[in-house]
Amino acid sequence: MANVLWLQGGACSGNTMSFLNAEEPTVVELITDFGLNILWHPTTGLQIGDQVQDLLKDILAGKVQMDILVYEGSLIQGPNNTGTMNYFADRPMMDWIKELSEVAGYVVAIGDCATWGGIPAVPPNPSESTGLQFHKKNKGGFLGADYVSKGGLPVINIPGCPAHPDWITQILVAISVGRIGDVQIDDYHRPKTFFTDFVQTGCTNVVNFAQKVDGGFGRRGGCLFYEVGCRGPMTRASCNNILWNRQSSKTRANHPCLGCTEPGFPHHDLKKGSVMKTMKYMGTFPKEVPEGRTKLAYYMEAGFQKIMPSNKTVQETSK
Ligand code: SF4
Ligand code: SF4
Repeated sequence: MANVLWLQGGACSGNTMSFLNAEEPTVVELITDFGLNILWHPTTGLQIGDQVQDLLKDILAGKVQMDILVYEGSLIQGPNNTGTMNYFADRPMMDWIKELSEVAGYVVAIGDCATWGGIPAVPPNPSESTGLQFHKKNKGGFLGADYVSKGGLPVINIPGCPAHPDWITQILVAISVGRIGDVQIDDYHRPKTFFTDFVQTGCTNVVNFAQKVDGGFGRRGGCLFYEVGCRGPMTRASCNNILWNRQSSKTRANHPCLGCTEPGFPHHDLKKGSVMKTMKYMGTFPKEVPEGRTKLAYYMEAGFQKIMPSNKTVQETSK
């Protein structure tokens, strides 16, 4: 049994929508079968106004136990570090989060805005947004690099824009059943279960990647790395293993991966020409190459494959 409080800051509610779409288990099953008790959620909570404020005060006073604090959206500190741009229950949300994080069993940041600041933190960042324990790739964020919850863990980051429902539900269940100690997290506090392999693992275009066969938006039979900026080879996430809606993924539908589970997202701060477009040197060589390879090694291998493809059959993969 775990009491969950879910709060939102600078958010579009995309992660809530994703969570509500969970299938195995569903949100209802989380409550009936997996012992989650949702104390309050901004979309589904029945309490309003003073009732919510009283609940938050009771949590801070120790009258109500909060095992998991889920936070969705960026932590808004503006203007001038007052946080008043995001008022909630009669005070800046950032003040609530500071105090609630001190009494939380575990803190779970869901989505890129909560984990590293996401799109709201792109310069000039007028809302002074940041993530709970990271600001982009840098550890620190709002709670500081040294923060650990009462359960002894730093903020558990479940990134994504939005996060996959299974990534959310499985971590909440792991905490609820007392198994979160079995979940390893990486340097960016992401559960390794979901964020070790690259998006490319399981992509149906991977043969075309190997053979340097160019694809395009919605076009079958090619890879999206060469022209439309697919970040599958440098993005750690299980999107092609744990499929979305149990059906598909961006790259299986021939849409480039935008790299939304990496702390640099949105990459290059949305600089013109950097979104869904492969950035190149001299119009030929990709500026970013698959992780684990030097640029020189990659360029040599790519050139060799172009001249002598190992398999001349272009794979038509997308259904
Ligand atoms: S479409 Fe993207 S993920 Fe799929 S093989 Fe190409 S680069 Fe990799
Ligand atoms: S395919 Fe890429 S952009 Fe899409 S959800 Fe997965 S990691 Fe994010």
